Amino acid sequence: MAEPQQPAPEAPQPNAGSSSGLETVLEARDVTKSYVLDELVVDALRGVTLEVRRGEMLAIMGPSGSGKSTLMHIVGLLDHPTTGNVTIDGVDVSGMTPNELAAMRNKRIGFVFQSFNLLSRTTAMTNVELPLIYAGVSAGERSRRSREALDRVGLGNRLTHMPNQLSGGQQQRVAIARALVTEPSIVLADEPTGNLDSRSGVEVMSILQDLNAQGITVVLVTHDARVARHAQRVVHIADGRMVLNEVVKERIMAGAEIDQLDMEEVSEDAIASLSVNARVES
Ligand code: ADP
Ligand code: MG
Repeated sequence: MAEPQQPAPEAPQPNAGSSSGLETVLEARDVTKSYVLDELVVDALRGVTLEVRRGEMLAIMGPSGSGKSTLMHIVGLLDHPTTGNVTIDGVDVSGMTPNELAAMRNKRIGFVFQSFNLLSRTTAMTNVELPLIYAGVSAGERSRRSREALDRVGLGNRLTHMPNQLSGGQQQRVAIARALVTEPSIVLADEPTGNLDSRSGVEVMSILQDLNAQGITVVLVTHDARVARHAQRVVHIADGRMVLNEVVKERIMAGAEIDQLDMEEVSEDAIASLSVNARVES
């Protein structure tokens, strides 16, 4: 069954600290992660503390290799920290069994990956239904909810397409629908625009901003400062440590970028037709 609706988020606070009084929906405390590979230890995270407030849109920005994906996998319950704690909706997940973790993830968290991670021989609709199959939702209900989620990302007319019959941007939108279909309170997106052309990237950011405006907490990871400025707040990570926390001053709204791109296309067409007419007349 659906989770109860979360209350609408409050207006973004001009305050990056944790003292704003808004509820913490996700927290990492003193998280470290060390990988051991051929007796070589890589300290991917060296003590990260992060609080995400309900309803906010946060970007985690850092260069390649700084630990962004490691952090996302840990707060998304796909991996365990070496030390430290993760709390989701006030529940410390440290002592949970694999089944409890899977249930928590299925219920509360939607994950979007850079490389989409769709099943290639499966339609858009079935891809979106997968988390509902794991959640034990009936076939009729699955079908209704996956159509609704695909509608929400503008793909109501691509239900039976296979991933290879969709553009990269469309595949990522299917992946977002899959993340949404369980009605999670948090969407985590790891470089969601990394494999996309710029227009498709803006379209994906527009969907993430819309979801956030509807009350879903969005955390995205990027190495791109421009992508990060679509969020309300940016935390910077370098070499496995948080180094800076800033409120975005001039937030980029993807809807306005799309309008701008449309206008540029129209004027390019107009210029092209003018020069054709000029040639015809001369
Ligand atoms: P980012 O997403 O910021 O590019 P990652 O979190 O993927 O960074 O990686 C952080 C560091 O941890 C890198 O040095 C990377 O090589 C290392 N690393 C990531 N995953 C593994 C793994 N499974 N085994 C060993 N080292 C890893
Ligand atoms: Mg990464």
